Amino acid sequence: MKLTLSTPLLLGSGRGERQVAAAEFWTSYRVTVRAPDELILGVRLPLAPRRSVRFRKVGTRRAQAISKVVMALAYREDAGVWRDVRVALGSVAATPIRVPRTERVLEGAAPRNTTADHAAATIAQEITPIDDVRSTAEYRRAVTARILHRMLRDEGDW
Ligand SMILES: Cc1cc2nc3c(=O)[nH]c(=O)nc-3n(C[C@H](O)[C@H](O)[C@H](O)COP(=O)(O)OP(=O)(O)OC[C@H]3O[C@@H](n4cnc5c(N)ncnc54)[C@H](O)[C@@H]3O)c2cc1C
Repeated sequence: MKLTLSTPLLLGSGRGERQVAAAEFWTSYRVTVRAPDELILGVRLPLAPRRSVRFRKVGTRRAQAISKVVMALAYREDAGVWRDVRVALGSVAATPIRVPRTERVLEGAAPRNTTADHAAATIAQEITPIDDVRSTAEYRRAVTARILHRMLRDEGDW
């Protein structure tokens, strides 16, 4: 998933077309700014040179299972440190979210053990999951932190 919540969505109706940043599209649980007569015509994905993107979905089964946690991580490596870090999540808040505090921990840092520990602790505090039929808030916090930690370990090769 390359959607990082600053990505523009293109909406269209008989009244014309407009773009809305993904972060502004979802206003609350199952509520969007899409008008009843509008369709989503497209998603514009800006090409970001040298950007790496990682994605992980956790569900009850490997496929055709609604997500308990879904995470996308994007960054650009620059002389051993990460720049332009984006972390976007689904199913851990009422809308898809970015986690700016966690992004700030990773921005300008190297994917080392200490960075991973700090980022994992931060993201567990930053998300706002609830218990529902799919999962519990406690499980989602723990798993979200471990997914991010594991992504950093894989990227740091340690
Ligand atoms: C049957 C089914 C199968 C799917 N299979 C796949 C698949 O195989 N692969 C795949 O990539 N995608 C799959 N998807 C899609 C994927 O599950 C969704 O794209 C993803 O879950 C969307 O995330 P979301 O955060 O937008 O919404 P949701 O996942 O619906 O998350 C919304 C969350 O908001 C929470 N919430 C509600 N109110 C509040 C509140 N007040 N405060 C905090 N939290 C709140 C709910 O607990 C819920 O977890 C499937 C979807 C369905 C329905």
